[in-house]
Amino acid sequence: MDNMRMYDIPAEGLPPVDASAANGWDVAQKIVVIGGGAAGLSAAYTLEYLNVPYVILEASATFGGRVQRDDDFLGDIGVSLDLGAEWLHTTRDASVLRELVLWKDDRDDAEAFVRDEMIEYLPSGMYYYHERKRSLRKKTFLEKTGLLETEYKFKTKSWSQYLEKYFHSRVKNNIVYNAVVSKIDYSLPNTAKVILQDGTEYSASKVICTVPISVLKEDITFTPELPKAKQNALQKNKMKPGLKVAIEFNERFYPEGGVFNDIGFWKSVFWLAYDHGSERGFFDALTNKGIEGRHVLSLYTYGALAEDLAKLTDEQIFEDVMGKLDRMFDGQATKHYVKHTVKNWTSVDFVRGLASDLSLGKNMVKEFAASPLEDGEAVPRVFFAGEFVGGKYGPTVHGACLTGRRAALNAIGKEYNYK
Ligand SMILES: Cc1cc2nc3c(=O)[nH]c(=O)nc-3n(C[C@H](O)[C@H](O)[C@H](O)COP(=O)(O)OP(=O)(O)OC[C@H]3O[C@@H](n4cnc5c(N)ncnc54)[C@H](O)[C@@H]3O)c2cc1C
Repeated sequence: MDNMRMYDIPAEGLPPVDASAANGWDVAQKIVVIGGGAAGLSAAYTLEYLNVPYVILEASATFGGRVQRDDDFLGDIGVSLDLGAEWLHTTRDASVLRELVLWKDDRDDAEAFVRDEMIEYLPSGMYYYHERKRSLRKKTFLEKTGLLETEYKFKTKSWSQYLEKYFHSRVKNNIVYNAVVSKIDYSLPNTAKVILQDGTEYSASKVICTVPISVLKEDITFTPELPKAKQNALQKNKMKPGLKVAIEFNERFYPEGGVFNDIGFWKSVFWLAYDHGSERGFFDALTNKGIEGRHVLSLYTYGALAEDLAKLTDEQIFEDVMGKLDRMFDGQATKHYVKHTVKNWTSVDFVRGLASDLSLGKNMVKEFAASPLEDGEAVPRVFFAGEFVGGKYGPTVHGACLTGRRAALNAIGKEYNYK
C-alpha cells in the first residue's frame, strides 16, 4: 500500500549467485547469523547454498520475524491471513520470488508457485472519511495520476509460506530459538564472540547481524563500541510504530475492493509527507482471493498515524477501530461483526514497531551495510542486514532478503551489487 514505486525491484532481474563463490572456505570458520526474519533466513540460505557453515540465533520461539500468519482465522478453507507483511511491493511482476531462490529445482517449483499463487492487487478506489461532515468521499484523481498501481498479493498462501517453503526448509536444522543476543565482541583478530542474555557464548569468524533497528539501538552492546558515525546514524533513525487489525463481518457494508482512510484527505496527505509514509487505511483482506461469502476488513497503520492506537491494549485497539467504523458506516460494523484479531507489532518483544524510517534508509546503508565493523587488525568482522539497511527497497520482505544475501556474500569476501 505504502510508497509502492519506491520499493520496485530491478527491471533486469537480480544478479546471480556463483555457487562456487566460497570454494576454499575453511569449514572450521563458522558464521553466526543473528535473527531469523527475512534477512537472517536469506543470509543463512545463501551460506547454505555456498557450503559455508553457520548458525542462526533467533531470540523468539519462531522464525519469520515480521512475516507471520494466522492459519486458523478463516477456518479450514486453506487460506492464511497475514499478520505482518502482506503485499509483494512491485509494479514489475512477481518474478523476484523466483529469482530469490538459488537451487535450480526449487526455482522451477517457485516458478509454479508464482504462477499459481500471485494475484494482482489494484484498489478500485481511495476513500477518505471527513469527521465533521461524517462522509466517506472517493478521490478519483489518485487513480488518474497513477498513484494507485497494480501490485501483488498471495492467493491462498502468504509471505510466511514462501519463506518457509524455500528458505526455512533449507536452514531449519541450524536455527537456535530463544537465543537472545545481548553482546557482540569483535575486539580480537580472527574471531568474534556473540554472547546471549543467559551468558552462552558463540565464537564466529564473522557475524551477520539482522536485528531490527529498535533492538540494535537498545538491547545489544558492542566491544569495542560502535564507531561514532554509526551511533549518529542510529540516533537519527528509529523504529516507527505500526499494527494490523483484521475484522470479519457477515455482510459487506463498505466499498468493494477499495481502500479507505478513517481521516480526511488533507490530513492523510499531510502525515504522508510529514512523517514519510505515515498511513492508516482499511482494505479488503480477501480481494481477488476467490472466496465467496466471507468479508474480512483489515486495518494497516504505520508511523505517526499509528502512534495513538499502538499505545493501547489489543482490546482497546479493537474497540477504537470498531467505534470509528460504526461512525463511518452508521453502526453497521457492530451489527455485522463476527470476529477479529489484533497484531500490534509495537508491543512484540524483539521487533517493537513496524519499520524504520524509510527516508533515512540510504544513510543507514552507507553507515551499516556498506561499512561493516572491523576488528583490531581492520578485518571486516560484523556485517549488517535487515529492513533498515534496505535502501531503495525499503522496509519490504524482498528488500530484507536482498540485504541478507548481500551480507552473506560480503562476509565471505565477495561483492553483491544490485541496483
Ligand atoms: C504490519 C506489517 C506490514 C507489512 N507489510 C509489508 C508488505 O505488505 N510487504 C512487504 O514487503 N513488507 C511489509 N512489511 C515489512 C516487512 O515485514 C519487513 O521489512 C521485513 O519482514 C523485515 O525483515 P528483517 O529480517 O529485516 O527483520 P525482522 O523480520 O524483524 O527479523 C528480525 C529477527 O531478529 C530477531 N531478533 C531481535 N532481537 C534479537 C536478539 N537480541 N537476538 C537474536 N534475535 C533477535 C527477531 O525476533 C526477528 O525474528 C510489513 C511489516 C509489518 C510489521
